[in-house]
Amino acid sequence: MPLMATATGRGAVLRAFGEPLTIETAEVPEPAPGALIAEIVYGGVCGTDVHLHHGKLPMPTPVILGHEAVGRVWQLGPGMETDLGGNPLRVGDPIAWASSIACGRCYWCLVERERTLCEQRRIYGINRRFDEWPRLSGGWADYVYLHPGTAVFRLPDGIGFEQAIALGCAGPTATHGVLGLAGVPVGGTVAVLGSGPVGIAAAMYAHLGGAAKVILVGGPANRLALAHDLGVGDVHVDLFAVPDPGERARMVREETPGGRGADVVLECAGVPSAVPEAFAMARRNARVLILGQYTDRGETPFNPHEITRKQLTVFGSWAFGEGHFQEYVQTLPQLARRFDLARLLTAYPLADANRALADVAAGTVMKAVLRGGAA
Ligand SMILES: [Zn+2]
Ligand SMILES: [Zn+2]
Repeated sequence: MPLMATATGRGAVLRAFGEPLTIETAEVPEPAPGALIAEIVYGGVCGTDVHLHHGKLPMPTPVILGHEAVGRVWQLGPGMETDLGGNPLRVGDPIAWASSIACGRCYWCLVERERTLCEQRRIYGINRRFDEWPRLSGGWADYVYLHPGTAVFRLPDGIGFEQAIALGCAGPTATHGVLGLAGVPVGGTVAVLGSGPVGIAAAMYAHLGGAAKVILVGGPANRLALAHDLGVGDVHVDLFAVPDPGERARMVREETPGGRGADVVLECAGVPSAVPEAFAMARRNARVLILGQYTDRGETPFNPHEITRKQLTVFGSWAFGEGHFQEYVQTLPQLARRFDLARLLTAYPLADANRALADVAAGTVMKAVLRGGAA
């Protein structure tokens, strides 16, 4: 393995849960055959990073955080001539890449063919250690080493880095859950619970998929106002202004033809009580996707009779695979034509990673990104 160092790069390293991240440097290795080195423009901060920082999900340490990022090709390993879609790759090209590589050998990969459920998935910024070669394996950094098998895609022409990082991992999470599993009712009504990045991404894809009306239930008011300004959602229900979930569900049903309820309900709120609220907004025979419960936040009471009586289809969706990531990259031009994606961003210097994490935890920004070496 050639290991001649040609540069060093910084990374924001999680060494102990709950403690501030430290900015550390590591040598940039030569890429092996099939690998590439990306110089990072932006590393996105996701709500999951707040949970990781506090040790709420299993992961090793030390790790450079950051499972969503965009950047430029800095060095191509031998044999790396195209992206996964077949487009030629050259040094300097703008790229995005999927955060995880499934093992391709296990029951979930081979029999179920659900690579998102692979239990041996290796994920940049989560379970690749900073104290093991090649060290630079997270997105909150100047460079990242992208191993062979990483789903790398060249950004479509005309798409800037701000646009490509604006939805972060919520983008491909939504192409999987919303387009892939829930389906968008063309000419129908979609209710979205939650106005964070997952809810915004889900609502954008509901618009893109042909829903006649998208009802966005969320808060606080500044997030809903931003959604409104961007044209995300046709109707906005502020859950702080309407604290009674029964009243919110009634307001949503009132916005649907015949008051029947939404054809599809997308739960993207991340609080367990949003699940029975989603049932209450759904019409009979509706599909209800539970997309927001990425962290175990406990239980919630609901009446199962409602599922039977309404003949609901209720299902979950976990993360995203290479194909969902490609769908996300390929729909960026359509999203960007319709929505001013860059307005979602608040950018921080890499050295301010702790401040960015705190702001995401407090919900004061919609989408925080850290500037890497190529920004
Ligand atoms: Zn994420
Ligand atoms: Zn597997």
